[in-house]
Amino acid sequence: MTALTTATSTPLVVAFADGDGTMAEILGGKGAGLAQMTRLGLPVPGGFTVTTAACREYLREGHEPEALAGELAAALTRLEETAGRALGDPVDPLLVSVRSGARFSMPGMMETILDVGLTDEVVTAVAARQGARFAWDSYRRLVQMYGRTVLGVDAALFEERLARARADAGVATDQELSATALEEVTSDFRRLLREHAGEDLPQDPREQLHRAVLAVFASWTGDRARRYRAHEGISEDLGTAVNIVQMVFGNRGRRSGSGVCFTRNPATGDPVPYGDYLVDAQGEDVVNGSRRTMDLAELGAREPALHQELIGHLNTLERHYRDVCDVEFTVEEGRLWILQTRVGKRSPAAAFRIACDLHDEGVIDLDEALCRVDGHQLASLLHPGFATDSGEQPVAHGLAASPGAATGRAVFDAVTAMEWGRRGERVVLVRPETSPDDLGGLLAAVAVVTARGGLTSHAAVVARGLGRTCVTGVEGLEVDETGRRAGLPGGLTLAEGDAVSVDGSTGEVFLGSREVVPSACATAIRSWSHLEEGAPYLSHPDPTVRSVGRLLAHADRRRTGGVRANAETPTDARAAREYGAEGIGLARTEHMLLGDRRTLVEQVVTGDERAAALVRIEELARVEFEQILQEMDGLPTVVRLLDPPLHEFLPDLVDLEVHTAVARAGGAPDADAERRLVLVRRWHEQNPMLGLRGVRLLAAVPELVTAQVRALAEAAVSLRARGLDPRPEVMVPLVADVRELTAALTRIRDEVDGVATAHGAALQVPLGVMIELPRAALTSGRLAEEVDFFSFGTNDLTQTTWGMSRDDAETSFLAAYRESGTLATDPFSTLDDVGVGRLIRLSVQEGRLTRPTLGLGVCGEHAGDPDSIHLLLAAGVDYLSCSPPRVPVARLEAGRYAVLSTAGGATGSDTR
Ligand code: ADP
Ligand code: MG
Ligand code: MG
Repeated sequence: MTALTTATSTPLVVAFADGDGTMAEILGGKGAGLAQMTRLGLPVPGGFTVTTAACREYLREGHEPEALAGELAAALTRLEETAGRALGDPVDPLLVSVRSGARFSMPGMMETILDVGLTDEVVTAVAARQGARFAWDSYRRLVQMYGRTVLGVDAALFEERLARARADAGVATDQELSATALEEVTSDFRRLLREHAGEDLPQDPREQLHRAVLAVFASWTGDRARRYRAHEGISEDLGTAVNIVQMVFGNRGRRSGSGVCFTRNPATGDPVPYGDYLVDAQGEDVVNGSRRTMDLAELGAREPALHQELIGHLNTLERHYRDVCDVEFTVEEGRLWILQTRVGKRSPAAAFRIACDLHDEGVIDLDEALCRVDGHQLASLLHPGFATDSGEQPVAHGLAASPGAATGRAVFDAVTAMEWGRRGERVVLVRPETSPDDLGGLLAAVAVVTARGGLTSHAAVVARGLGRTCVTGVEGLEVDETGRRAGLPGGLTLAEGDAVSVDGSTGEVFLGSREVVPSACATAIRSWSHLEEGAPYLSHPDPTVRSVGRLLAHADRRRTGGVRANAETPTDARAAREYGAEGIGLARTEHMLLGDRRTLVEQVVTGDERAAALVRIEELARVEFEQILQEMDGLPTVVRLLDPPLHEFLPDLVDLEVHTAVARAGGAPDADAERRLVLVRRWHEQNPMLGLRGVRLLAAVPELVTAQVRALAEAAVSLRARGLDPRPEVMVPLVADVRELTAALTRIRDEVDGVATAHGAALQVPLGVMIELPRAALTSGRLAEEVDFFSFGTNDLTQTTWGMSRDDAETSFLAAYRESGTLATDPFSTLDDVGVGRLIRLSVQEGRLTRPTLGLGVCGEHAGDPDSIHLLLAAGVDYLSCSPPRVPVARLEAGRYAVLSTAGGATGSDTR
């Protein structure tokens, strides 16, 4: 609707008969649906929509548009003519509902007022024609809804009065209240209006209608609605439309009722209509859940003709919308009315199934089916869970920081985690909180639990990146590291080695082991090595899994973007391959040197047994590289040179200072500790994130770096000798200037050539640079002269572009920024397109200008985030590299990107 830009030409009121389903921007979702159904010939009560344009003007100017009153009156007259009844008529009155309905559905967030048009005079007429109980029940509903919505009277006051009426009458539900009781309640409600708002229900039906419309406008800016929009990312500027609908009554006895239904099962995707129906009820009563509802089959048995008519309408709607629809309907004395429809929300499992079924039914093509699902939905189908309800109760609760479920033995420090991990034990790392020092432990663990920290704490972020289960901020958890135990709520304790189970999808922690069930989808995907060939996924018994396979296969067919994984252990490398990774885009070498191996680095730095330590490091690295390259046989494996700040390998400064001071004071100075203190002070940095790390380590400890390169080259040569096809690549982290890069590359080439010559082998090792500092991005043209590929490290590039540390920002100010709306989305979760994205685009352009064959990868967290993937591919990168379990998500999204970015691609849909 381009008409939006010229507010004056946009109508303020549109009759259902004059609109259609494409006009949601001005009619809102509900209004567009009502208009479309009217157009399709479905039995929709008469009515019209006051447009969002009228609402926007009201909100902007503080008063309604001048022309609104006139347009309202004209539309009302037209409605009265078609209905054959008039508002306020003392014999056969028209009643209407006034219903909010914005562009995007905001369930339960905004207001609806039913039975507008009842007055003292009219209620008598209705009582005479349709019974006193019905009349007074409707009137009390109007007074209640009008009082709350238009006059702002506290809802609880009405509820209290109703509860008293039920108690007096000795009944459980409002439905059992007599006409007299309801008449008394209504008059008390009106007293509440006068007392709390200083005015009564207007006795002019037109005034009721008018004020109800304005109240719905105003409800757009209510707290609840605002919070919902902030959470859902819906713009504040849209405003709501208001629908005026002739009332139909489901509360007129046994042959009346109300229901909601879906054209297909929204939980399973089963292609059968699904719904609930309540006899003798108005719409609201169905969702309130106070009475037992019947399903559609039961309705069919009771009212076959009605059921058949309903199914007919459901088919019409699905054919028109080419998607699952949900419907609100009401039956008034055997006559069916449809009151609302929209494209239905569905579970992730149902989304895949429905998309494929619609394709099989010839409704949509495969491209569109692919666009009807997304990576978030797929991700939620891939997490393992605990075997269902064994009745176990959690012993502690925290935040669901990284989904999945895992069981293992508790350990309380990273070194123990790594030791136990190396001997094949499944461990759960339990910490007060984690820091970069704990990386080795996080890698070794199946799950991480922390007492402190939120969803963006170090533990949470790293665990998500690695695909480990994680629960943070566990209330009542007290970790006693030295005592190797932890206290839990309720006086329970957890000792080192005790079995513990963690549910990262719910934030629950259990004592003892529980059976972990891998997701059927993940298991299936890992077993289908080649989706294209043989199509084993087509015969999977579970229709959802089958559908996931088909859409993933289609995504693979469509996508041009490659997908690799971030992996640095043989186990993760194998998982990566099974999940469909086409290589490793980032192997972080530092984990090989963490934990108890940190002393090796310390020895290299201090010069103590330096040569021996270097030999040992090279040996360890060679073994691990060989295992990884073997798993990735024939596929590129990008190894990043040592990256973390040097201080992470050295003893803690404060610990040492305390230790030496105590020893000195005791008159027995510790000579060894004093010597180490000098060293640690020498390398101490105030701001390690911006300090001695990445390529800069070459300046301090070049031998560490060259030992790694030699190990990688040796591993490749030895695999080659065994007839395998290793494809190692090396990349240099944290480069700011081309001279840093060339110095590093010279050393790398020398080492690789040295190994090759020694073995008489030819070794091609492509070299690359990480783009993770703004200066690297800005000088990409020059950097590209030196390397075969770029890899965008979007985590550090985000930190350095924003100038904020991911580890600290959350606790200090990020939460406040989000609360106040200063930051709408977290740039560490979703790529900041405007800033970081711009640097990436610039780097891609300048890099490719210098070297058209330049490879371009992304190895940050963002490569596994569905929303960021589209931005990255649009920037022109060749491949994404994410944690192994995210690989299918990246494949799916890369396929969706290919379809959506092609002109004339699928139209997409509104369901998400
Ligand atoms: P929501 O957006 O919260 O679903 P609705 O505007 O759909 O709110 O209205 C709330 C309830 O009132 C629904 O169950 C609806 O079916 C019912 N309702 C609304 N208008 C009418 C009407 N004209 N006749 C009968 N029931 C109605
Ligand atoms: Mg509704
Ligand atoms: Mg980095």
